[in-house]
Parts: sequence; C-alpha cells; structure tokens
Amino acid sequence: MIAAINELVNLQPAVVQRMTLPVTSHKQITADVLRIDKIHATISGNKWFKLQYALEDAMLQGKKNIITFGGAYSNHLLATAYACARLGLHATGIIRGERPEILSGTLQECSGLGMQLHFVSRDDYHEKERLHGQLMELFPGSYIIPEGGAGARGVRGAAEILQLTRGHDFSHICCAVGTGTMLAGLLTVLSPEQSATGVSALKIPAGDNTISRFIQETTGSQNYSITYDYHFGGYARKTAELIQFMNSFYTQTGIPTDFVYTAKLFYGIIDMIGKDQFPPGSHLMIIHSGGLQGNRSLPKNSLVF
Ligand SMILES: *Cc1c(COP(=O)(O)O)cnc(C)c1O
Repeated sequence: MIAAINELVNLQPAVVQRMTLPVTSHKQITADVLRIDKIHATISGNKWFKLQYALEDAMLQGKKNIITFGGAYSNHLLATAYACARLGLHATGIIRGERPEILSGTLQECSGLGMQLHFVSRDDYHEKERLHGQLMELFPGSYIIPEGGAGARGVRGAAEILQLTRGHDFSHICCAVGTGTMLAGLLTVLSPEQSATGVSALKIPAGDNTISRFIQETTGSQNYSITYDYHFGGYARKTAELIQFMNSFYTQTGIPTDFVYTAKLFYGIIDMIGKDQFPPGSHLMIIHSGGLQGNRSLPKNSLVF
C-alpha cells in the first residue's frame, strides 16, 4: 500500500548538489547537499517521510479522519493537509492558541486543502493526554498523528531519506534536529563507518537528555553527536545575523534555507568545518529538509530569494 500512497503524492526525485565554499576547500572537506526541499512544491522536505507510515496505518484501519497538531506556520500541518487531500482522507488540524483574525498563509493553505482547523488554548494544547481524550470525543473514529510526525512510524519513514543518497559516498550525514525523529531514522540505517551530526533548532536546557534518551531507545546507536550551539535564541527564533547568513548563503550557493531549521543547520555545519570539527578528507552529506514555506512569517523583503 505504501507504494500506492507514494504514487498519489507524486514526489520528484531529490538531487544531490555539491556545496563548495572557501572554507570547505581550505579545510579539505567535501560537502554535498541532499535537496529534499525539492521533492514537492507543497510537502517540502522531511515531513512526508515521517508521515507516510502513519497515513498507511490509518488507511489500513479504515480511518477517515486524521487529527494532527501544529503551530501557525507548521510544515507538518501543511504536509498532512496536502497528503490527506490526495489520499481522500479528511484532516483536522489542532492549532495552538486562539483563532487569529487573519489566518497565517500556511493555515489558509491548509484550509484551502480541506483541513478543518480547530484552535485550542496553549494550556490545553500542552495537556496532551486530556486533549487526545477530548478530541476523540469530538471527532470519533479519528486517527491521531503526533505533532511533527514523531514516534516509531515517523522514525521508520525518516529512515527512507537515506535511500535518496544511494550512489553517493559520504563519511558524515548532517541534519537539523527538532524532535530528533529524522536523526533517529537515519541512524537505524546508517552503516557503522558513517556517523551523523545533528544541529538542534531548539534551545535545550543543559542536562535535558530527552532527545538522546529517545535516540538510545529507538536506535541504540552511539554513532552520532548533536550540537546545541546554533539555536539563535530557540525554536523559530532568529537574529539579524541569521537572516544575513541566509541571504549570503543563497547568493554563494543558490540554496534557499528556512530560518527555523535549515539555516541553523548550514550555519552550524559551516562554522564547525571552520573550527576543525570534521577531520580533513571528511565527506559530508547535509540534508536540506525543506520547510521553506515557513519563511512566510518573516517581514517582507527580509530575504533575497
Ligand atoms: C520538522 C523539521 C525538521 C526536524 O525534524 P525532526 O524529525 O523533528 O527532528 C527539520 N527540518 C525541517 C525543515 C522540518 O520541517
């Protein structure tokens, strides 16, 4: 069934693009970028991979309504709305916060794809268990997908991202980290002589090991590191320096990034290369996980792309 589902969603092939910068040459690093931002105009990036097995499970169970969660600019909500529309499923998006007078561009697009939007207060939103109970009463017979497509099915689907690198050698795979689901998926299929480097998009308090515990439980792998030094203030936070980086990176490489995840990833990896954190001769495969639609929340004319 998963092949049929993928056919309906109709993805374009991902491309691998060489990223040559003065620092990569200087430090003798080869860097490639896996452009999964290019696989689809609406479902840009990793969210489709994380969703596919949950949607398959829902369809095998004969469920007709998918409930999932996100904020006003959520890549996951938009990917879910699009996929459900293609697969003939009804979708309900649970949005954190009051309904605003004017919906964000992302939520307007979700709504246009037929997603029913249901706003809940921030307090209720974070009371996951009680909220799930209430939602199942409001929308009986629904299938709930965790926020961001996290969970075991998300890990399994994310593992398939690695297949897109077939034919390309690399020593390190690098990706952005939100929940760590994508990184966990990659680690389940990475070969032992390769390692993974994650760059967290979130500011995680020192001593909080939720993500490493999750990775330990789902993969048992120790073949990775996560750096928490490039969050630029925290999730969906930004600075003028980050925006400036996005513009100059685009001018130099032709690669557009999103300010929530991939800009922090590229900034971090380039900085780490400069600080000799990859041995000379390393070959990096950096995953561009998409999310460009979220740049709609930036003030107009912030970006040159
Ligand atoms: C959601 C998202 C991530 C983070 O993925 P996790 O599996 O939650 O770690 C990274 N990049 C983009 C563009 C995303 O939308």
